[in-house]
Amino acid sequence: MSSTIDSILVEDRVFPPSRAAVEGAAVPGMASYKALCDEAERDPEGFWGRLASEHLRWRKPFTRILDESRAPFYTWFEDGELNVSENCLDVHLENGNADKTAIIFEADDGTVESISYRRLHARVCRIANGMKSLGYGKGDRAIIYLPMSIEAIATMQACARLGVTHSVVFGGFSSRSLHQRIVDVGATLVFTADAQLRGGRPIALKPAVDEALAGEGGEIVRKVIVYKRSGADVAWDDGRDVWLHELEAAQSDICEPVAVESEHPLFILYTSGSTGKPKGVQHSSAGYLLWASLTSQWVFDARPGDVFWCTADVGWVTGHTYIAYGTLAAGMTQVVFEGVPTYPDAGRFWEMIQRHKVSVFYTAPTAIRSLIKAAQASPDTHPRRYDLSSLRLLGSVGEPINPEAWIWYYNNVGNGRCPIVDTWWQTETGGHILAPLPGATPLKPGSCTFALPGISAGIVNEAGEDIPNGRGGYLVIKRPWPAMIRNVWGDSKRFKDSYFPPELKGYYMAGDNAQRDSDGYYWIMGRTDDVLSISGHRLGGTEIESALVAHELVAEAAVVGRPDATTGEAIVAFVILKGRTPEGPQAEALARELRDWVASEVGPIAKPRDIRFGNNLPKTRSGKILRRLLRVVAEGQEVTQDVSTLENPDVLKQFSGVY
Ligand code: ATP
Ligand code: MG
Repeated sequence: MSSTIDSILVEDRVFPPSRAAVEGAAVPGMASYKALCDEAERDPEGFWGRLASEHLRWRKPFTRILDESRAPFYTWFEDGELNVSENCLDVHLENGNADKTAIIFEADDGTVESISYRRLHARVCRIANGMKSLGYGKGDRAIIYLPMSIEAIATMQACARLGVTHSVVFGGFSSRSLHQRIVDVGATLVFTADAQLRGGRPIALKPAVDEALAGEGGEIVRKVIVYKRSGADVAWDDGRDVWLHELEAAQSDICEPVAVESEHPLFILYTSGSTGKPKGVQHSSAGYLLWASLTSQWVFDARPGDVFWCTADVGWVTGHTYIAYGTLAAGMTQVVFEGVPTYPDAGRFWEMIQRHKVSVFYTAPTAIRSLIKAAQASPDTHPRRYDLSSLRLLGSVGEPINPEAWIWYYNNVGNGRCPIVDTWWQTETGGHILAPLPGATPLKPGSCTFALPGISAGIVNEAGEDIPNGRGGYLVIKRPWPAMIRNVWGDSKRFKDSYFPPELKGYYMAGDNAQRDSDGYYWIMGRTDDVLSISGHRLGGTEIESALVAHELVAEAAVVGRPDATTGEAIVAFVILKGRTPEGPQAEALARELRDWVASEVGPIAKPRDIRFGNNLPKTRSGKILRRLLRVVAEGQEVTQDVSTLENPDVLKQFSGVY
């Protein structure tokens, strides 16, 4: 059992669902949740087959459910055919929701534009017809490099309507990253904008595309379709570049959806790159959409009058599943935001919840932690200053949410009455995997609770054997599920090596460590790459970080190990305070206090050897802490790794003092 991990943090606060949360819920009460789990356990294929028939509209019904003959290259509903865009849009035109608002778009400068399902459908059809007129169709691949906008979502849907596989590249990536992705996916079409507006400033996009296409291999792109967002002057290639508004103007509002096989790749999306070079994750059409839609209904408990707001960018999987696909398939009204949480001030999120009467709010721990810090610095931006009474449900995704951040979110944003769904999942899983159901699951702050029905999660040692509750190990998913990754684009070997190591009995290995407590609740303990080995104990960093964040002065923390002759590894903690960054004797005194604090919160074994203070942590563009870079800094070495996914390269220079 040498691969198991010691658990050191104890959290015993429990929040059962209120009556209001249970009444009318998609899954009301634990008995309903268990009934679904039991159904899946008894007959997994029957369970998925039933849901796929009930929740999706098929052009050609499937007769086979799961094919395991080429494992781990599983296929689902293989002989069926459908169209994803038809399932997200057309279905609502026929069920009385045509005039329901699909998207409330708020621009960086506060301008608001709403679009109904009927009008969104028409726009998607016009864009798809425009693509057809340029010769694109099923089997082609397109890069989407657009700001958060109605256009970004419409463009993804237009690709889906024609069977064009898309790969969305986050607008903050440089021309170099864009070039790599264009070449890697073999895109012949690029969607972009002249510029995007963030934090009151225009940031050019089209020039990055021009530069990327001038690079080797860039000539495979035949057309660049440009959304005029800012009106900035752009260089123009008459043979290649097309304005989106001009292309759309000439098109009909009707475009027949193209039926595709269930396994047709809907999209390729690169992971965040927290643990290394991003992987191009290939997803299917039917299996992916089924889970995107079901989890929107179960975990967000979609209700008719909801206004849903997911703050992720469509450049990440969260923005795919819970902005562009699942939530539209579930017929929800959603807010889409172009800007940043701190412009014009750090009250922007709360102000927008108030303005649009948001009822379900889904964001990331990184945003919550930075807004906690901001609310302390400028009390005017504290969520308590706003009317947030429209909220009924909160969500978190992307990283472990430290219990103290959870409690702050619960009390100050949810006013102590909104459940928090802490959703653990990955680009590779397509949708939520471990998550509470708001009308059923009693919550524990910092735990993503239980596996969703149909998901056979487990925790195993390095031989793939189950390990008892209370010990940490590899988080795995034992049986295939419809929304799982199909391949790493163009790299089947990396797919098998990364996710299906032979010693783990064919289980899907997530790459995270987790434990289950004595009540069976899951707790994520950190990445398998980030395990600390201290005096014969193996520790996950999350618990130590959570202990640090529980200190009243600490806003954010990351811990890594550095080699040590006596203890194997020594713990190095990178700490961001809510207030000013200390230096000299003040820093020394605080470092002593934090060491003692961690020792008393979780035990002396977890005491950081070095503490380094800074103003912010290195993060991926999706806001995840990049511990692999901090490890290099902790060892006092030069960073030579891939830093293309690092949001702000200068951030590594600030941790000079060691206390
Ligand atoms: P890469 O795979 O390139 O290293 P990445 O894993 O950060 O990057 P994503 O797919 O965007 O790329 O992120 C998935 C990871 O995010 C999970 O493996 C997990 O570590 C973390 N994560 C997501 N949601 C949660 C959550 N609710 N609690 C804890 N961790 C989470
Ligand atoms: Mg990953």
